[in-house]
Amino acid sequence: MNPKRLEIIEILGGFKCKHCDVVDTRILEIDHIFGNGKEMPLSDPDIMDIYLDNPYLCKTELQILCRNCHRIKSLEHGDLGRRKGEPKPITVKKKDIPRIILENMDRYTS
Ligand SMILES: [Zn+2]
Repeated sequence: MNPKRLEIIEILGGFKCKHCDVVDTRILEIDHIFGNGKEMPLSDPDIMDIYLDNPYLCKTELQILCRNCHRIKSLEHGDLGRRKGEPKPITVKKKDIPRIILENMDRYTS
């Protein structure tokens, strides 16, 4: 496994589904809690670095789910992963990172 991905999983508490406690690494996935996976794809090494440099952001936006729970979440919440009326999460786009981090430094330090 990609060492950075492993580091993110460690920040998130290790290999265990947040919803059902399954620990089988073969079916565990990193979920973008608020559905911003398109803006913050973990396939992008720069995005990985942003999460690794900001553990608070990492823990706020990401969680470990098994495939079943991930799928159920997608079915229930749609692609956005956010219930209707729920407030928008603190989220950042790659291009905004330096400015946002500077302006909200307290939010990104745990
Ligand atoms: Zn699960």
